[in-house]
Amino acid sequence: MTAKIIDGKAIAAALRAEIKRDAQALLARGVQPGLAVILVGDDPASRIYVRNKSRAGADTGVRSTLHEFAADAAESAVLERIANLNADPGVHGILVQLPLPARIRTERVIAAIAPAKDVDGFHPLNLGALVAGHAGFVPCTPAGVMHLLAREGVPLAGRNAVVIGRSNIVGKPMALLLLRENATVTVCHSKTADLPDVTRRADVLIAAVGRARMVTANMVKPGACVVDVGINRLPDGSLAGDVDFAAVREVAASITPVPGGVGPMTVALLIANTVRAAARAAGMKLETP
Ligand code: NAD
Repeated sequence: MTAKIIDGKAIAAALRAEIKRDAQALLARGVQPGLAVILVGDDPASRIYVRNKSRAGADTGVRSTLHEFAADAAESAVLERIANLNADPGVHGILVQLPLPARIRTERVIAAIAPAKDVDGFHPLNLGALVAGHAGFVPCTPAGVMHLLAREGVPLAGRNAVVIGRSNIVGKPMALLLLRENATVTVCHSKTADLPDVTRRADVLIAAVGRARMVTANMVKPGACVVDVGINRLPDGSLAGDVDFAAVREVAASITPVPGGVGPMTVALLIANTVRAAARAAGMKLETP
């Protein structure tokens, strides 16, 4: 079997077109969705991510502003800026690009963002809402994966879903979202014993580890849907996912590529959350759920 390649770029473009309609409806009411991006230091990968997010925003009618800090900036300076952005009615979404320099306490910075503007969904209140099954902002990468699965018509109810990785920004929210759709979910991590034995039972396998091509063909159930969240820079400068794409493609029924799979969805969901935040602030109902 050669798997169908799930085209994240095309699905993200379709979603951005829907978001653009919502953004235009807001504009017609005199509200331009605003996203503030905070970047501390000069990590080249972070800079690329920030640029992609601003571009996607501009294409969709979201105004983004970049708030840059030197790598040795004080935590208090970042917190002060967040307080100002929380109070600014023209800013509907606030994003702090991670990772932050080690001196700055990430959890303090994230907790300082007003939950109603936390479009990355990392604030403890939004993460708690996700656990409890209440409405809130959902982290963009796992939300993007769910969107891909829905658009591809991948069945989840009653199926075995295995998530490799348990980070707060990908693995854990991913597991909760799959559970919400009635999948039977297993979360694997660095201490999991006999990982291939677990992953071979997955109808839907999500890899979110950060180790190039660690998911090999013998770890995949024939006919599974495989979603590769990993982004790994190889020594030659090219990008690879966590999945051995060429080999797994011969076993799976469908698979996301890297690049062009989950990455574009993450950016689209960020913009969607920003437009949603603006709509809520304006008391307006959106067409895109
Ligand atoms: P992380 O380092 O916080 O978490 C990695 C997880 O992998 C940990 O929970 C760890 O227990 C697990 N792990 C490590 N070694 C393992 C092993 N040998 N077997 C099983 N599990 C193991 O990383 P993260 O922030 O969750 O990101 C994961 C990957 O996803 C990275 O490559 C990151 O760049 C990528 N990512 C992509 C997007 C996107 O938009 N596509 C967004 C966020 C993260």
